[in-house]
Amino acid sequence: MKTLKMLLIYIILNFCLVLNPEAREPIHAVATIGQIADIVKNIGSENINVQRLIGPGVDPHLYSASESDMDKLSSADIIFYNGLSLESKMEVALQKMGATIKTVPVSETLPVSMRLEDQTLQGQHDPHIWFDVTLWILAAEKIRDELIAFAPELKDQFSANADAYIAKLKELHEYVHNRAFELTGEERVLVTTHDAFRYLGRAYDFEAVGLHGITTQSSVGAEEVARLADFIVERKVKMIFVESSIPAKNLRDVQEAVKSRGWDVAVGGELFSDNTGSEEGPEGAYIGMMTYNIDTIVNSVREKTTAQ
Ligand SMILES: [Zn+2]
Repeated sequence: MKTLKMLLIYIILNFCLVLNPEAREPIHAVATIGQIADIVKNIGSENINVQRLIGPGVDPHLYSASESDMDKLSSADIIFYNGLSLESKMEVALQKMGATIKTVPVSETLPVSMRLEDQTLQGQHDPHIWFDVTLWILAAEKIRDELIAFAPELKDQFSANADAYIAKLKELHEYVHNRAFELTGEERVLVTTHDAFRYLGRAYDFEAVGLHGITTQSSVGAEEVARLADFIVERKVKMIFVESSIPAKNLRDVQEAVKSRGWDVAVGGELFSDNTGSEEGPEGAYIGMMTYNIDTIVNSVREKTTAQ
């Protein structure tokens, strides 16, 4: 009886496909970080199932692919990742997948002239391009084009969805810019755990300084802590910010070192740097993450100024 029922369902489904030849299984995409999964979700809509590999609060610099990740990757129709060594421990796995599956390193499609160079490693580019919303619009256009190349019959839907999403990103760019300029030039100094925010700095006129360099793989010693503490005291920085994907301990050491130099710097909250938040909340999406970050930065500096 059960077998007969299954057979009937199978016949009906196939009959539907004959009636509507455009009906197809959703494309199965895998993306590494939340920011990229979010673009794919918005442009792909009901035509794509997106699996995000690196979960909320997890640092992509240090993430290695597990066996179940390899299964997810190998069963994907198309794979999107950031590149520029953000997912450095997954590079070999991603390259291996690239031999048989369409694999797109989103940030590596950005012209070299638009990238920021690493300040310490020659020839290496800063991977955190999503912090300049205008560059993330280029990433959305790249993902749209790759999806159209993969499924040309869905071109109109992908294009319309991309237009709607990019319109929201343009509004976001205005919002981040306007909020940033609520602060004075002196206040637009952003001290965080690692150098993820240099594109935000270039786009919205912040001086962005991190305790670690552009990757969290390097360890931090007393010398780096002392150097950053001196900078904070010299520039009279009021707030420093921890990041959701990196332990806060090292930045607490900086706070103590600043205190011992006679200046008081507060921890202004936790920012989402290299990954979005939980998908249940607004910070699980790129727009929510960026809005939360700029509101946290500006509001906490403003509150501290008002309290003084
Ligand atoms: Zn980073």
